[in-house]
Amino acid sequence: MEAISQGELELVRFDTTELLREIQRTLFPNLSSHVTCLYGRIPTLGALHRVGENRHVISLHSLFNHPDTPQVVVRHILIHELLHIEIPPRALREGELDPRISRKKGSEPLEPLGPIAHPSEFWVRERELSPDRLVAMKWIFEAFGGRLKYREREEGIWVRKWRSEYGRRVVRPSIEEVRAKLSERDHGYPEGGE
Ligand SMILES: [Zn+2]
Repeated sequence: MEAISQGELELVRFDTTELLREIQRTLFPNLSSHVTCLYGRIPTLGALHRVGENRHVISLHSLFNHPDTPQVVVRHILIHELLHIEIPPRALREGELDPRISRKKGSEPLEPLGPIAHPSEFWVRERELSPDRLVAMKWIFEAFGGRLKYREREEGIWVRKWRSEYGRRVVRPSIEEVRAKLSERDHGYPEGGE
C-alpha cells in the first residue's frame, strides 16, 4: 500500500472535514471508525487507508484542492471511500463474472486477481448513497479527462503526470454547466474513485 501523502493546505471553498463529518453522520450512522481526510499527491483520485484499530484516513488527490472544485464532487469521492469501510473487498463468488477482466478481449488473467474491491453490491449501494455520482464523475472527466487513466484490473482511476502548476491552470467547469449536459444516457466513462 502507498504511503499516505502529506496533507496540503486546503484551498476548496468548503470545510472538507465538516463535510466528511456530515456524510458519516447522515449516511453512515453505524460506522464507528474515526475517519479523517486530507488533500495530497496520491496516484489515484481518492484512497482509503486504515491507520489503526477503527481509524481511517481518506486521501483526496491534489487536483481537487482548488477553489473552483464543486462540493458535490468531493462529496461523491468521500461517500465512495467511506463505502470501502462499510463494504470491504471480498473474494469472487462461484460463477460470478469478474468485472476486472475485459470480456471483449476474452482474456483470462495469468493468475487470480484476488479479492475484488468493488463488487456489484458496492455499486448498488453507491447509487443509493450518492445521487450526484454521475454529475460528479462527469465533472471530473470534463476537467481532467486527459490526465486520467482508468485501470480495469487495479479497479481505479489513476492521475498521470500531475504538476501543481498545471493543476492551477486547469479550467474547472461549473457543476451547473456539467449537470445541464448530463442526460440519462450520457455515461461514457468508467465508474469509481479509487
Ligand atoms: Zn473504490
